[in-house]
Amino acid sequence: MYLRGLELQGFKSFPDKTVLTFGKGITAVVGPNGSGKSNISDAMRWVMGEQSSKALRGEKMAGVIFHGCATRKESPFAQVTLTIDNEDGALGVDSEMVSVTRKLYKNGDSEYLINGSPVRLKDVNELFMDTGLGKDGYSIVGQGRIADIVNGKGSDRREIFEEAAGVAKFRYKKQEAERK
Ligand code: ATP
Ligand code: MG
Repeated sequence: MYLRGLELQGFKSFPDKTVLTFGKGITAVVGPNGSGKSNISDAMRWVMGEQSSKALRGEKMAGVIFHGCATRKESPFAQVTLTIDNEDGALGVDSEMVSVTRKLYKNGDSEYLINGSPVRLKDVNELFMDTGLGKDGYSIVGQGRIADIVNGKGSDRREIFEEAAGVAKFRYKKQEAERK
């Protein structure tokens, strides 16, 4: 499983539809300060279901929508699609390519899609659980995260190991069953 592509439209500093294609191996994003590198990793977190605007370096969630500038009007929505190559089936879905889309309108309406079909946030979270991807996965290591892990509570650290070991899904399913 690896990241195949990212499509952004109206997200932060990307008003126009922008398509990024990644290959296997190392990909580096380089550019001057303020050119939008971190906005790309924010877009990845966001499409994987991040609910904290602080984690996306903003005050409100609507802050992810392109807010306009001297020469351009603001965008009516933000949309990001993440495409994952799932040829090895690691995502546990019967599809060689899996795309996840999140869209947020200025009025607060939001949508999630998996392979073009509308789904709930819960479905997006379940898709990424135990894969290392997802908003709480270890595949995105942000600034300060290592210090958080080292200095954090044992229970928080345990969650990271459980995700890596593939236990998180079973714990989640047990909690779901107990709630019913
Ligand atoms: P650095 O090298 O300093 O880390 P960077 O390449 O990571 O920079 P980003 O933080 O990704 O840069 O991008 C910052 C830019 O994104 C700023 O110019 C900011 O104004 C712009 N930006 C953030 N949110 C929005 C938004 N909603 N609409 C328009 N522009 C935005
Ligand atoms: Mg940056």
